[in-house]
Amino acid sequence: MTRGPDYLLEIKGLSQTLTDEKWECMVMWRKKMFEFVRNRNESVFLNGPDKKMIALSFDDGPDLTVTPGIVKLLKERNVPGNFFFTGINVEKHPQVVLNTYQNGNLILSHSYKHDDMTSLDNDEIYMDIKKTEAAIEKVIGLKPAILRTPYGETDSKVLSIATQAGYKVVLWSLDTLDWTQKHDVNMIAQNVISNVRNGDIILMHSLEDFTSNVSALSLIIDELKRQSFEFVNLETLLGIKAYQ
Ligand SMILES: [Zn+2]
Repeated sequence: MTRGPDYLLEIKGLSQTLTDEKWECMVMWRKKMFEFVRNRNESVFLNGPDKKMIALSFDDGPDLTVTPGIVKLLKERNVPGNFFFTGINVEKHPQVVLNTYQNGNLILSHSYKHDDMTSLDNDEIYMDIKKTEAAIEKVIGLKPAILRTPYGETDSKVLSIATQAGYKVVLWSLDTLDWTQKHDVNMIAQNVISNVRNGDIILMHSLEDFTSNVSALSLIIDELKRQSFEFVNLETLLGIKAYQ
């Protein structure tokens, strides 16, 4: 069940708080990544297939409050999550990582300390990926095989090193833009509810200052269930391995 080149979604999601200049940058970045992914079909992904399923993803954690809150909600609703943790936060909160894993969620790589990987040299990129991998393996006994590059910044150099290290790169097709509107439950949820399409990968964050995200996620899950979307993990959505 591969995505196929014929079903590539434009990245969606709005914010009322970004300046015109920042919004323009965001639009340019989305167009750039769409073109980038279109030409590299099996190593980097924005979305899954044209089927009534979606994946929820949560970046930058773990922390001690919002990540456990999201994990609890997902468990109550019987919905899987995909957590892109940084190595440095995995080392800070190993119990949260373990609990997240043991509740049926994927633990995936979001770099060691959230550097823009396109600004690093080849060795630095490789070392960063391996250091994060070691931090995650120490806690759950598995090495991830899916990387989300910080800020989504990915170029052919980063992709080539990630591939050598055994990773697929998975970005997103539907952005809640929660980091621009942290206290606006309605905007965060509406970005998903108004825009959701078959195969979307939804981006949220799981860090302590994202206090509205548990409430927003609850609204999102309710509405997407009402629309008969199936919630799946990225292994199922993309037909790729989560772990090496
Ligand atoms: Zn991030």
